Amino acid sequence: MVNILRSTTKAAAYACAATLAPLLLRLSPGPRLLILTYHRVLPPNHPAREYEEQGMMVSAQNLEMHLRLVGRYATFMHLDDWLAQKDAGVTLPRLTCVVTFDDGWADNYEYAFPVLHHMQIPATIFLATARIGAAQGFWPTTLGRLLFAAWQQQNQALIIALAQQLPLIRWPQSVPTSARRAVVFNVIDQLKKIYLDQDVDAALTHVATAQMHNPPPELLDWAQVRRMADTGLIKFGSHTRNHRRLNARLEPAVLDDEIVQSAMEIAEKLGTPPGGFCYPNGDATNYALEKVQQIYRYSVLNTQGINTKCAQAHGLKRIGLHDGSGATVNALLGRLTCAYLGVGN
Ligand SMILES: [Zn+2]
Repeated sequence: MVNILRSTTKAAAYACAATLAPLLLRLSPGPRLLILTYHRVLPPNHPAREYEEQGMMVSAQNLEMHLRLVGRYATFMHLDDWLAQKDAGVTLPRLTCVVTFDDGWADNYEYAFPVLHHMQIPATIFLATARIGAAQGFWPTTLGRLLFAAWQQQNQALIIALAQQLPLIRWPQSVPTSARRAVVFNVIDQLKKIYLDQDVDAALTHVATAQMHNPPPELLDWAQVRRMADTGLIKFGSHTRNHRRLNARLEPAVLDDEIVQSAMEIAEKLGTPPGGFCYPNGDATNYALEKVQQIYRYSVLNTQGINTKCAQAHGLKRIGLHDGSGATVNALLGRLTCAYLGVGN
């Protein structure tokens, strides 16, 4: 009930704020830098929508609507170009927009790249380099995929396999369709509290490899990455090697490997080192922040907001967009206005 009230209040605040947007976006003093964050780009009827988090998905139609609308007010640019122009003292556009995608989903190639290419809009995709070309994506998505398959096919062997690998969780054998999403997210929460990321990852990859035959790949492969890089329109940054959250639970040696090796892998595969780094989940210890600054030109966090010309190249703010926060022109304008004013995020 509290959540319903909160989301209704938020929607109402965005609707009010939307009326201010054209004024703010056209008249507020620049230069400002707006960095948009997306994750997966999926058609409305895609099966992954059943188990993927709402905040992770946008349709290609909504993505195109966002870019057309923002393009009325902003100049699209790569982030390293904006930083280079700022450092050189070149006059920057009053409002610049940088488009980013986190994680390196295969659907970015299939559904986002055609939109970006058609509109000639530059974008950066942050890759978890060790997962590029791997059969399985990140463990929360793999878990959703496995549980939905088990419940839809009444596959008890799959549930038993999960229980054998991760015995501290109670694995429901059957769940009514309407409750399935909620149960998946509840199990994800329990797993995060009880086990280490890398242990859940290994266990679920093991079960998925044994139980699921030739599932379509969820993440990009290097051939797709290269095809997009060759256009010069799409650049690639690092999102660690294994999408590890860079928090105090991670050993410094593992943390080093996640930050340094991912840059080396991108440099080796694409011929140029990545400019930017994106912190998974926005987590960053002081050690991680220092290490990233040594290796990368810029970094982005999950902190919501718009950057001014005074912003440092590391720890830049972004605005997360998805079907839930940007399904209509008014919803998007409201979201941007709140980010401008630093409220309601
Ligand atoms: Zn991520």
